[in-house]
Amino acid sequence: MPSLADVLAALDGWYPPSTAESWDAVGLTCGDPGERVERVLLAVDCVPATVAEAVSSGAQLLLTHHPLLLSGVHGVPATDPKGALVHRMIRAGVAHFVAHTNADVAAAGVSQALADCLGLTGIQPLDPDPAPALDHLTVLVPAADRDRLVEALTAAGAGAVGNYDQATFTVSGEGSFRPLPGADPFDGEVGVLTRKPEQALTVVLPRHRRADVLAAMHQSHPYEEVAFTLTEQPRLPGGTGTGRIGTLAGSRTLAEFTEHVAARLPGTAWGVRAAGRPDQPISTVAVCGGSGASYADLARARGAEAYLTSDLKHHGTVEAVTERDTGSAPMALVDAAHWATEWPWLPVAADLLRRRFPDLEVAVSDIVTDPWTLHAR
Ligand SMILES: [Zn+2]
Repeated sequence: MPSLADVLAALDGWYPPSTAESWDAVGLTCGDPGERVERVLLAVDCVPATVAEAVSSGAQLLLTHHPLLLSGVHGVPATDPKGALVHRMIRAGVAHFVAHTNADVAAAGVSQALADCLGLTGIQPLDPDPAPALDHLTVLVPAADRDRLVEALTAAGAGAVGNYDQATFTVSGEGSFRPLPGADPFDGEVGVLTRKPEQALTVVLPRHRRADVLAAMHQSHPYEEVAFTLTEQPRLPGGTGTGRIGTLAGSRTLAEFTEHVAARLPGTAWGVRAAGRPDQPISTVAVCGGSGASYADLARARGAEAYLTSDLKHHGTVEAVTERDTGSAPMALVDAAHWATEWPWLPVAADLLRRRFPDLEVAVSDIVTDPWTLHAR
């Protein structure tokens, strides 16, 4: 059985806490990282019903998307509703862990799961985060010393690309140099022009490892003076970021798309509503799990014909479908329950946990924690 620390380390790898918004409260609310974990329950909200489910199912970890204590507290007395939940979890040996805005933007995150659940293809982040900063290093080295140099550079963090390491590119050529008085050449004589077969070795490296890689290069290179070129790769859009945009399989009308969303998302009392012309054709779709109203203009600018999110307000929606849609390609707004747009992430995170920890029993709560429980026409 893994320890809680093992499980949390895996979660932090998929959902790095450093990618959470500064105002957010992610990570462990309560729990001892040294304890063993046999069962995990995943839910969108940490509320009395999901805490009760975690306790009654014998889970040692409740993982939720939303924080329990988002606003600062100075205590968790059992007389306070949230404090009572903390007490209940600690007494029952249930740890509580939150992956919130860090789960929103992740590659295997909330909006990606929402886009996948609708069957979109060619999915990209709607507002992509820049890919990790990379440098390219080309260093000239005598052929006989190349392999030793590669070993030192890769040990310092160079040559790693996605799921590959020791990635290098080498071109052979001839180097020339003339050591001047005062030089202590590895090869050649002072005052004599020397020609040597050399190789130009190119590696990529994470920019934050630049100092380590350059130090390793100088340390393992035979030459007194090392000839090298270091260039910064521009920050390109990466695979993470807020929201997703993609293409629906087969064009549908807005009415059909709204039915499709309702059929794919878990059901709630309110269901799914749409603002726009019912016969409007929909092919390019943007989505954002949770409250994504502020990304509507970006979705429109990126060519979305429908934008699915939650918590849309009256005035913004009226303006979106009356004032801004005077052109030939209007964008419809589709609004589902906040809970329903985030729930599809739970089975994705559960699968990641099952694959990493085959001994772990992982369950997804299907308690509907959308607070809107009635809908009358
Ligand atoms: Zn949310």
